[in-house]
Amino acid sequence: MSRTARLTVGIVGAGVSGCYAAQMLSRTFPDAEVTLIERLPVPYGLLRYGVAADHQGTKGVQQQFDRLFARGKVRFAGGLTLGQDFSLAQLQQWFDVVILATGLAADRRLDVPGEDLPGVIGSGRLTRALNSHPDESSNWPVVAPEVAVVGAGNVALDIARLLARHPGEWQGSDMDSRVLAAIAPVPVKTLHLIVRGKPNEVRWDAAMLRELAGLARVRLTLDAATGGLAPASAREILGLGAIPASAEETAGLPPLDIRLYFNTQVERVLGAKAVSGLRLRMADQRLQDIGLGSVVTAIGFAAAQPEADWAQAGARASPGVYRTGWLRTGPQGAIARQRALAQELADEVAQEWASGRLTAGRPGAAALPAAWDYQAWLEIDAAERASAEPGRIRRKCASVEEMLGWVPG
Ligand SMILES: Cc1cc2nc3c(=O)[nH]c(=O)nc-3n(C[C@H](O)[C@H](O)[C@H](O)COP(=O)(O)OP(=O)(O)OC[C@H]3O[C@@H](n4cnc5c(N)ncnc54)[C@H](O)[C@@H]3O)c2cc1C
Repeated sequence: MSRTARLTVGIVGAGVSGCYAAQMLSRTFPDAEVTLIERLPVPYGLLRYGVAADHQGTKGVQQQFDRLFARGKVRFAGGLTLGQDFSLAQLQQWFDVVILATGLAADRRLDVPGEDLPGVIGSGRLTRALNSHPDESSNWPVVAPEVAVVGAGNVALDIARLLARHPGEWQGSDMDSRVLAAIAPVPVKTLHLIVRGKPNEVRWDAAMLRELAGLARVRLTLDAATGGLAPASAREILGLGAIPASAEETAGLPPLDIRLYFNTQVERVLGAKAVSGLRLRMADQRLQDIGLGSVVTAIGFAAAQPEADWAQAGARASPGVYRTGWLRTGPQGAIARQRALAQELADEVAQEWASGRLTAGRPGAAALPAAWDYQAWLEIDAAERASAEPGRIRRKCASVEEMLGWVPG
């Protein structure tokens, strides 16, 4: 391999961290050939399939990534899966620099008895379904009118909010009302939000809780057990001071009671053939059973196999192979963190290149199997926008077949 040939960079995973890595590497190595390899025919990972449908402002970063492809700085190779269409060893033969950015897709488990009963739904699965991810389209989870959401992060609040909105509160979003109606066929009436720690230990942003509490249908109450705090002080700590605790009857839909519990642990999921309740250990150590039909776990994400194996791969173990995004850090960090990580990664690759440990000359994208390109994504994107319901900005294709149906043969 030579030191003068053009560097070829293959990034696996065209999600948030992969796109930022492509941006930073193409800046650091302006002559390099950079390819984003993605298992779906469409890019952007959790930006498209995790970030909530009603937070379109957050998805605006997509325009930066679109420009990378549109200016020809970076290629897109969709419909290729690492571990299925090619191996890591093959990638290392094809690209001078390999970056693994496949994220973490598995829901972390509660590890309590009854967790495998039908009716327990991981937040990753539920948010993918609400976002019309093709992996979930044939088997949508159904959320019962009495539900618990377990978790103290923004994803738990995203789920509560998406279940709380009434039909008039989806303007400007890309929520597919048919999908929503299949997932929540009856409006949720009671939502128990169960937090293990104290009010000052939550990981969610106070603004997210205020947004939830401010929705027309929501009546948010704090369970008496607020970690030794009077409910009024807990409301202050949570940033809820000025938000009224009562909801109106909206468009004929019932108010949604959100009961917020702190210092509370799930001991067991109750039920014979499906979920019928939760046994909770309350702050004062007493056990309390609550009846409900669904439990959504929002306690983080983990590596599924074979990601667990790739997670081990890194520059030190395998020259020229790097990780970024959640595969590198675990499921911490929002979109802005992925940008910072990408800059660190580009600096690390530049140092390796300067030290002579990397060589150029591998064939790059030309060695990959046939893939869907950026033009195919533009066709799918245009079709999705054109088929949006009134007041919505797009209707996402819910299957790979439907996506590819929009791409001219
Ligand atoms: C439900 C949810 C909501 C969120 N909302 C926000 C928010 O509002 N604001 C915010 O700042 N952050 C939010 N985040 C966090 C943010 O999404 C993450 O910081 C970021 O997406 C992590 O990027 P990543 O590239 O590691 O993973 P991902 O974005 O998941 O990208 C991984 C990509 O790899 C692809 N892939 C996986 N396996 C393979 C394979 N074998 N071969 C080829 N490709 C593969 C996947 O299809 C995917 O496109 C949210 C996260 C979740 C889970």
